[in-house]
Amino acid sequence: MSRPAAMIINLDALRHNLSIAKRCSPLSKIVAVLKANAYGHGAVEVAFAIQDHVEMFAVSSIEEAMQLREAGLAKPVLLLEGCFSASELNLASKHDFSVVFHSEYQINALEKQTLDKPLSAWLKIDTGMHRLGIYASSGLRLYQRLKDSDKTQNVVTLMTHMASADLLNEPYTEQQLTEFKQVKKAIIANGERQISTSIGNSGTILGWPEGRSDYIRPGIMLYGLSPFNEAHPDADQLQPVMTLQSKIIAIRNIDAGERVGYGSTWQAQQPSRVATVAIGYGDGYPRNAKSGTPVLVREKRAYLAGRVSMDMLSIDITHIPEVRIGDTVTLWGESLSANEVANWADTIGYELVTRMPLRVPKTYL
Ligand code: PLP
Repeated sequence: MSRPAAMIINLDALRHNLSIAKRCSPLSKIVAVLKANAYGHGAVEVAFAIQDHVEMFAVSSIEEAMQLREAGLAKPVLLLEGCFSASELNLASKHDFSVVFHSEYQINALEKQTLDKPLSAWLKIDTGMHRLGIYASSGLRLYQRLKDSDKTQNVVTLMTHMASADLLNEPYTEQQLTEFKQVKKAIIANGERQISTSIGNSGTILGWPEGRSDYIRPGIMLYGLSPFNEAHPDADQLQPVMTLQSKIIAIRNIDAGERVGYGSTWQAQQPSRVATVAIGYGDGYPRNAKSGTPVLVREKRAYLAGRVSMDMLSIDITHIPEVRIGDTVTLWGESLSANEVANWADTIGYELVTRMPLRVPKTYL
Protein backbone atom coordinates (compact mmCIF):
# COMPACT_ATOMS: atom_id res chain seq x y z
CA MET A 1 0.00 0.00 0.00
CA SER A 2 1.41 3.45 -0.87
CA ARG A 3 1.17 6.17 1.78
CA PRO A 4 -2.48 7.18 1.96
CA ALA A 5 -2.09 10.83 3.06
CA ALA A 6 -3.23 12.87 0.05
CA MET A 7 -4.83 16.13 -1.02
CA ILE A 8 -7.74 16.41 -3.39
CA ILE A 9 -7.97 19.80 -5.11
CA ASN A 10 -11.43 20.52 -6.45
CA LEU A 11 -11.13 22.99 -9.35
CA ASP A 12 -14.92 23.28 -9.73
CA ALA A 13 -15.06 24.58 -6.17
CA LEU A 14 -12.32 27.07 -7.09
CA ARG A 15 -14.38 28.34 -10.05
CA HIS A 16 -17.48 28.51 -7.86
CA ASN A 17 -15.59 30.67 -5.33
CA LEU A 18 -14.35 32.92 -8.11
CA SER A 19 -17.96 33.40 -9.22
CA ILE A 20 -18.78 34.64 -5.69
CA ALA A 21 -16.00 37.25 -5.94
CA LYS A 22 -17.45 38.30 -9.32
CA ARG A 23 -20.96 38.45 -7.93
CA CYS A 24 -19.84 40.67 -5.02
CA SER A 25 -17.98 43.05 -7.29
CA PRO A 26 -19.31 42.61 -10.83
CA LEU A 27 -17.62 45.67 -12.33
CA SER A 28 -14.13 44.89 -11.03
CA LYS A 29 -11.35 43.12 -12.85
CA ILE A 30 -10.03 40.14 -10.93
CA VAL A 31 -6.42 39.74 -9.88
CA ALA A 32 -6.30 36.17 -8.55
CA VAL A 33 -3.70 35.88 -5.79
CA LEU A 34 -1.56 32.79 -6.39
CA LYS A 35 1.35 33.48 -4.07
CA ALA A 36 2.95 30.67 -2.03
CA ASN A 37 2.00 28.07 -4.64
CA ALA A 38 -1.61 29.31 -4.69
CA TYR A 39 -1.85 29.03 -0.90
CA GLY A 40 -0.61 25.45 -1.17
CA HIS A 41 -3.06 24.38 -3.90
CA GLY A 42 -0.58 24.34 -6.83
CA ALA A 43 -0.10 27.68 -8.63
CA VAL A 44 0.16 26.33 -12.17
CA GLU A 45 -2.89 24.08 -11.93
CA VAL A 46 -4.95 26.81 -10.27
CA ALA A 47 -3.84 29.37 -12.86
CA PHE A 48 -4.79 27.15 -15.80
CA ALA A 49 -8.18 26.42 -14.21
CA ILE A 50 -9.20 30.08 -13.94
CA GLN A 51 -7.15 31.96 -16.53
CA ASP A 52 -10.15 32.59 -18.79
CA HIS A 53 -12.11 34.20 -15.96
CA VAL A 54 -9.57 36.60 -14.48
CA GLU A 55 -7.71 39.69 -15.64
CA MET A 56 -4.38 38.79 -14.11
CA PHE A 57 -2.55 36.83 -11.43
CA ALA A 58 -0.64 38.13 -8.41
CA VAL A 59 2.39 36.46 -6.84
CA SER A 60 4.95 37.57 -4.32
CA SER A 61 8.25 37.02 -6.15
CA ILE A 62 9.81 36.95 -9.58
CA GLU A 63 10.46 33.21 -9.14
CA GLU A 64 6.75 32.58 -8.65
CA ALA A 65 5.96 34.70 -11.71
CA MET A 66 8.54 32.86 -13.84
CA GLN A 67 7.05 29.53 -12.77
CA LEU A 68 3.76 30.61 -14.38
CA ARG A 69 5.46 31.80 -17.59
CA GLU A 70 7.56 28.62 -17.85
CA ALA A 71 4.36 26.58 -17.56
CA GLY A 72 3.01 28.45 -20.60
CA LEU A 73 0.68 30.96 -18.96
CA ALA A 74 0.55 34.23 -20.90
CA LYS A 75 -1.74 36.33 -18.65
CA PRO A 76 -0.36 39.44 -16.94
CA VAL A 77 1.21 38.76 -13.54
CA LEU A 78 1.51 41.31 -10.75
CA LEU A 79 4.59 41.18 -8.50
CA LEU A 80 3.13 42.15 -5.10
CA GLU A 81 6.48 42.79 -3.45
CA GLY A 82 7.98 44.52 -6.48
CA CYS A 83 11.54 44.18 -7.80
CA PHE A 84 14.78 44.34 -5.85
CA SER A 85 17.52 44.25 -8.48
CA ALA A 86 18.34 45.27 -12.04
CA SER A 87 17.93 41.69 -13.22
CA GLU A 88 14.46 41.44 -11.68
CA LEU A 89 13.39 44.68 -13.39
CA ASN A 90 14.70 43.37 -16.70
CA LEU A 91 12.85 40.07 -16.30
CA ALA A 92 9.68 41.94 -15.40
CA SER A 93 9.96 44.10 -18.51
CA LYS A 94 10.74 41.14 -20.74
CA HIS A 95 7.90 38.94 -19.45
CA ASP A 96 5.24 41.65 -19.01
CA PHE A 97 5.03 41.43 -15.25
CA SER A 98 3.33 44.39 -13.58
CA VAL A 99 5.41 45.68 -10.71
CA VAL A 100 4.24 47.08 -7.38
CA PHE A 101 6.39 50.02 -6.27
CA HIS A 102 6.06 50.36 -2.52
CA SER A 103 9.08 52.52 -1.68
CA GLU A 104 10.93 55.47 -3.15
CA TYR A 105 14.03 53.26 -3.07
CA GLN A 106 12.47 51.07 -5.75
CA ILE A 107 11.49 54.05 -7.90
CA ASN A 108 15.05 55.41 -7.73
CA ALA A 109 16.38 51.99 -8.76
CA LEU A 110 13.97 51.90 -11.71
CA GLU A 111 15.15 55.29 -12.94
CA LYS A 112 18.76 54.05 -13.10
CA GLN A 113 17.78 51.04 -15.19
CA THR A 114 17.80 50.53 -18.95
CA LEU A 115 14.80 48.39 -19.93
CA ASP A 116 13.71 46.77 -23.20
CA LYS A 117 10.13 47.94 -22.73
CA PRO A 118 8.34 50.23 -20.25
CA LEU A 119 6.87 48.47 -17.23
CA SER A 120 3.29 48.38 -16.05
CA ALA A 121 3.58 50.07 -12.65
CA TRP A 122 1.37 49.89 -9.55
CA LEU A 123 1.97 52.31 -6.69
CA LYS A 124 1.20 51.02 -3.22
CA ILE A 125 0.03 53.44 -0.56
CA ASP A 126 0.46 52.53 3.11
CA THR A 127 -2.89 53.56 4.58
CA GLY A 128 -2.37 51.78 7.90
CA MET A 129 -1.08 48.25 7.42
CA HIS A 130 2.49 49.56 7.94
CA ARG A 131 4.09 46.68 6.11
CA LEU A 132 4.70 47.88 2.54
CA GLY A 133 3.78 51.11 0.80
CA ILE A 134 4.62 54.78 0.64
CA TYR A 135 2.89 57.20 2.99
CA ALA A 136 -0.17 59.04 1.74
CA SER A 137 1.69 62.34 2.07
CA SER A 138 4.09 61.25 -0.74
CA GLY A 139 1.31 59.71 -2.85
CA LEU A 140 0.83 62.51 -5.38
CA ARG A 141 4.55 63.18 -5.86
CA LEU A 142 5.53 59.54 -6.39
CA TYR A 143 2.49 58.82 -8.55
CA GLN A 144 3.55 61.67 -10.79
CA ARG A 145 7.15 60.46 -10.85
CA LEU A 146 6.12 56.99 -11.96
CA LYS A 147 3.63 58.39 -14.45
CA ASP A 148 6.20 60.73 -16.02
CA SER A 149 8.95 58.13 -16.16
CA ASP A 150 9.88 56.75 -19.59
CA LYS A 151 10.50 53.42 -17.79
CA THR A 152 6.79 52.92 -17.13
CA GLN A 153 3.68 52.63 -19.25
CA ASN A 154 1.19 55.45 -19.31
CA VAL A 155 -1.18 54.09 -16.66
CA VAL A 156 -0.18 53.75 -13.01
CA THR A 157 -2.58 51.78 -10.84
CA LEU A 158 -2.96 53.04 -7.29
CA MET A 159 -3.32 50.33 -4.66
CA THR A 160 -3.46 49.74 -0.93
CA HIS A 161 -3.92 46.78 1.40
CA MET A 162 -6.31 46.48 4.32
CA ALA A 163 -5.05 45.39 7.73
CA SER A 164 -8.33 44.35 9.37
CA ALA A 165 -10.95 43.83 6.67
CA ASP A 166 -11.67 40.41 8.20
CA LEU A 167 -13.22 42.19 11.18
CA LEU A 168 -16.62 43.41 10.08
CA ASN A 169 -17.55 46.88 11.44
CA GLU A 170 -13.91 47.65 12.31
CA PRO A 171 -13.46 51.46 12.17
CA TYR A 172 -9.78 51.05 11.23
CA THR A 173 -10.83 49.80 7.79
CA GLU A 174 -13.00 52.89 7.29
CA GLN A 175 -10.02 55.02 8.26
CA GLN A 176 -7.81 53.26 5.70
CA LEU A 177 -10.44 53.63 2.97
CA THR A 178 -10.76 57.36 3.72
CA GLU A 179 -7.00 57.88 3.61
CA PHE A 180 -6.81 56.07 0.27
CA LYS A 181 -9.64 58.17 -1.14
CA GLN A 182 -7.79 61.33 -0.16
CA VAL A 183 -4.69 60.28 -2.12
CA LYS A 184 -6.85 59.53 -5.15
CA LYS A 185 -8.58 62.91 -4.78
CA ALA A 186 -5.26 64.77 -4.62
CA ILE A 187 -4.09 63.05 -7.82
CA ILE A 188 -7.31 63.95 -9.60
CA ALA A 189 -7.16 67.53 -8.30
CA ASN A 190 -3.69 67.70 -9.85
CA GLY A 191 -5.18 67.14 -13.31
CA GLU A 192 -5.32 63.34 -13.72
CA ARG A 193 -8.60 62.55 -15.49
CA GLN A 194 -8.89 58.91 -14.72
CA ILE A 195 -7.17 56.77 -12.17
CA SER A 196 -7.35 53.07 -11.72
CA THR A 197 -7.35 51.64 -8.18
CA SER A 198 -7.10 48.33 -6.34
CA ILE A 199 -8.02 47.82 -2.70
CA GLY A 200 -9.83 44.61 -1.98
CA ASN A 201 -8.48 41.39 -0.54
CA SER A 202 -11.05 38.71 0.35
CA GLY A 203 -12.27 40.36 3.56
CA THR A 204 -12.73 43.66 1.75
CA ILE A 205 -14.45 42.13 -1.29
CA LEU A 206 -16.95 40.28 0.87
CA GLY A 207 -17.45 42.74 3.69
CA TRP A 208 -16.60 46.26 2.56
CA PRO A 209 -18.43 47.48 -0.57
CA GLU A 210 -16.34 50.65 -0.71
CA GLY A 211 -13.24 48.55 -1.30
CA ARG A 212 -14.65 47.02 -4.49
CA SER A 213 -12.81 49.19 -7.00
CA ASP A 214 -11.32 48.67 -10.50
CA TYR A 215 -9.21 45.65 -9.53
CA ILE A 216 -10.01 43.25 -6.70
CA ARG A 217 -7.37 40.87 -5.33
CA PRO A 218 -9.05 37.77 -3.89
CA GLY A 219 -6.81 35.19 -2.23
CA ILE A 220 -8.17 33.03 0.55
CA MET A 221 -11.79 33.19 -0.65
CA LEU A 222 -10.79 31.55 -3.95
CA TYR A 223 -9.61 28.57 -1.94
CA GLY A 224 -12.94 28.34 -0.13
CA LEU A 225 -12.00 29.64 3.29
CA SER A 226 -13.93 32.49 4.85
CA PRO A 227 -11.78 35.39 6.03
CA PHE A 228 -14.29 35.99 8.84
CA ASN A 229 -14.73 34.32 12.22
CA GLU A 230 -18.42 35.04 12.13
CA ALA A 231 -21.25 34.00 9.79
CA HIS A 232 -21.51 35.98 6.55
CA PRO A 233 -24.06 35.37 3.76
CA ASP A 234 -21.54 35.32 0.87
CA ALA A 235 -18.54 33.88 2.71
CA ASP A 236 -20.69 31.02 3.95
CA GLN A 237 -21.32 29.95 0.33
CA LEU A 238 -17.63 29.38 -0.36
CA GLN A 239 -16.67 25.77 -1.00
CA PRO A 240 -13.38 24.29 0.27
CA VAL A 241 -11.01 23.57 -2.60
CA MET A 242 -8.51 21.43 -0.67
CA THR A 243 -9.55 18.19 1.01
CA LEU A 244 -6.87 16.49 3.10
CA GLN A 245 -7.44 12.79 3.59
CA SER A 246 -5.75 9.65 4.83
CA LYS A 247 -6.76 6.20 6.01
CA ILE A 248 -7.09 4.24 9.21
CA ILE A 249 -4.21 1.77 9.53
CA ALA A 250 -4.93 0.27 12.99
CA ILE A 251 -7.77 0.05 15.52
CA ARG A 252 -7.53 -0.98 19.17
CA ASN A 253 -9.81 -1.23 22.19
CA ILE A 254 -8.44 0.31 25.37
CA ASP A 255 -9.64 0.21 28.96
CA ALA A 256 -10.88 3.22 30.89
CA GLY A 257 -7.89 5.02 32.40
CA GLU A 258 -5.45 4.00 29.59
CA ARG A 259 -3.56 6.79 27.83
CA VAL A 260 -2.78 7.45 24.15
CA GLY A 261 0.22 8.92 22.32
CA TYR A 262 3.44 10.78 23.16
CA GLY A 263 3.35 12.39 26.56
CA SER A 264 0.30 10.22 27.40
CA THR A 265 -1.85 13.36 27.32
CA TRP A 266 -5.20 11.76 26.42
CA GLN A 267 -6.83 9.40 28.89
CA ALA A 268 -9.84 7.20 28.12
CA GLN A 269 -12.76 8.11 30.40
CA GLN A 270 -14.55 4.85 29.50
CA PRO A 271 -13.66 1.64 27.62
CA SER A 272 -12.79 3.15 24.22
CA ARG A 273 -12.07 2.31 20.60
CA VAL A 274 -9.17 4.26 19.14
CA ALA A 275 -8.07 4.35 15.48
CA THR A 276 -4.61 5.22 14.16
CA VAL A 277 -4.65 7.42 11.04
CA ALA A 278 -1.65 7.56 8.67
CA ILE A 279 -1.03 11.30 8.72
CA GLY A 280 0.95 13.54 11.03
CA TYR A 281 2.85 16.78 11.29
CA GLY A 282 5.29 15.54 8.62
CA ASP A 283 2.29 15.71 6.28
CA GLY A 284 1.27 19.24 7.22
CA TYR A 285 -1.28 18.37 9.90
CA PRO A 286 -0.66 20.79 12.79
CA ARG A 287 1.17 19.18 15.71
CA ASN A 288 -0.42 21.62 18.13
CA ALA A 289 -3.99 20.55 17.25
CA LYS A 290 -5.53 19.73 20.62
CA SER A 291 -7.33 16.56 21.68
CA GLY A 292 -10.93 17.05 20.58
CA THR A 293 -10.08 18.47 17.13
CA PRO A 294 -12.70 17.04 14.74
CA VAL A 295 -12.05 14.79 11.72
CA LEU A 296 -14.60 13.11 9.43
CA VAL A 297 -14.97 9.36 9.08
CA ARG A 298 -17.97 7.59 7.54
CA GLU A 299 -19.60 11.06 7.31
CA LYS A 300 -19.47 11.46 11.07
CA ARG A 301 -17.21 13.48 13.30
CA ALA A 302 -14.56 11.71 15.33
CA TYR A 303 -12.06 13.50 17.55
CA LEU A 304 -8.31 13.68 17.93
CA ALA A 305 -7.08 11.72 20.96
CA GLY A 306 -3.61 12.71 22.21
CA ARG A 307 -0.67 14.35 20.50
CA VAL A 308 -0.11 14.33 16.75
CA SER A 309 3.02 12.31 15.78
CA MET A 310 5.17 12.87 12.68
CA ASP A 311 3.36 10.28 10.52
CA MET A 312 0.31 9.28 12.54
CA LEU A 313 -2.43 10.53 14.78
CA SER A 314 -5.09 8.83 16.89
CA ILE A 315 -8.83 9.44 16.93
CA ASP A 316 -11.51 8.33 19.33
CA ILE A 317 -14.09 6.28 17.38
CA THR A 318 -15.95 4.77 20.34
CA HIS A 319 -19.22 6.34 19.16
CA ILE A 320 -18.89 5.06 15.54
CA PRO A 321 -18.76 1.25 15.84
CA GLU A 322 -18.97 0.71 12.08
CA VAL A 323 -15.49 2.21 11.46
CA ARG A 324 -12.97 -0.29 10.02
CA ILE A 325 -9.26 -0.42 9.11
CA GLY A 326 -8.88 1.08 5.62
CA ASP A 327 -11.64 3.68 6.10
CA THR A 328 -10.92 7.14 4.72
CA VAL A 329 -10.50 9.98 7.21
CA THR A 330 -10.92 13.60 6.14
CA LEU A 331 -8.75 15.96 8.13
CA TRP A 332 -10.21 19.07 6.48
CA GLY A 333 -12.33 19.87 3.44
CA GLU A 334 -15.96 18.91 2.61
CA SER A 335 -18.06 19.82 5.68
CA LEU A 336 -15.04 20.41 7.94
CA SER A 337 -13.38 23.73 7.19
CA ALA A 338 -9.61 24.11 7.59
CA ASN A 339 -10.57 27.24 9.55
CA GLU A 340 -12.29 25.09 12.18
CA VAL A 341 -9.26 22.78 12.49
CA ALA A 342 -7.01 25.86 12.65
CA ASN A 343 -8.97 27.17 15.64
CA TRP A 344 -8.10 23.99 17.54
CA ALA A 345 -4.43 24.51 16.67
CA ASP A 346 -4.23 28.23 17.53
CA THR A 347 -3.64 29.27 13.95
CA ILE A 348 -5.61 30.24 10.82
CA GLY A 349 -6.80 28.27 7.82
CA TYR A 350 -4.44 30.31 5.58
CA GLU A 351 -1.46 28.76 7.35
CA LEU A 352 -2.73 25.17 7.32
CA VAL A 353 -3.35 25.01 3.56
CA THR A 354 -0.29 27.07 2.59
CA ARG A 355 2.28 25.00 4.46
CA MET A 356 1.29 21.60 3.04
CA PRO A 357 4.51 19.73 2.21
CA LEU A 358 5.46 18.16 -1.12
CA ARG A 359 5.37 14.76 0.56
CA VAL A 360 1.57 14.83 0.28
CA PRO A 361 0.50 14.30 -3.34
CA LYS A 362 -2.30 16.29 -4.95
CA THR A 363 -5.04 14.95 -7.19
CA TYR A 364 -6.96 17.54 -9.21
CA LEU A 365 -10.67 17.08 -9.83
N1 PLP B 1 -3.37 41.64 -1.84
C1 PLP B 1 -2.18 41.63 -1.21
C2 PLP B 1 -1.25 42.79 -1.38
C3 PLP B 1 -1.83 40.56 -0.40
O1 PLP B 1 -0.65 40.56 0.23
C4 PLP B 1 -2.77 39.49 -0.25
C5 PLP B 1 -2.45 38.36 0.62
O2 PLP B 1 -1.94 38.46 1.69
C6 PLP B 1 -3.97 39.55 -0.92
C7 PLP B 1 -4.25 40.63 -1.71
C8 PLP B 1 -5.00 38.45 -0.76
O3 PLP B 1 -5.47 38.43 0.56
P1 PLP B 1 -6.59 37.40 1.04
O4 PLP B 1 -5.97 36.06 0.96
O5 PLP B 1 -6.89 37.80 2.43
O6 PLP B 1 -7.72 37.56 0.09
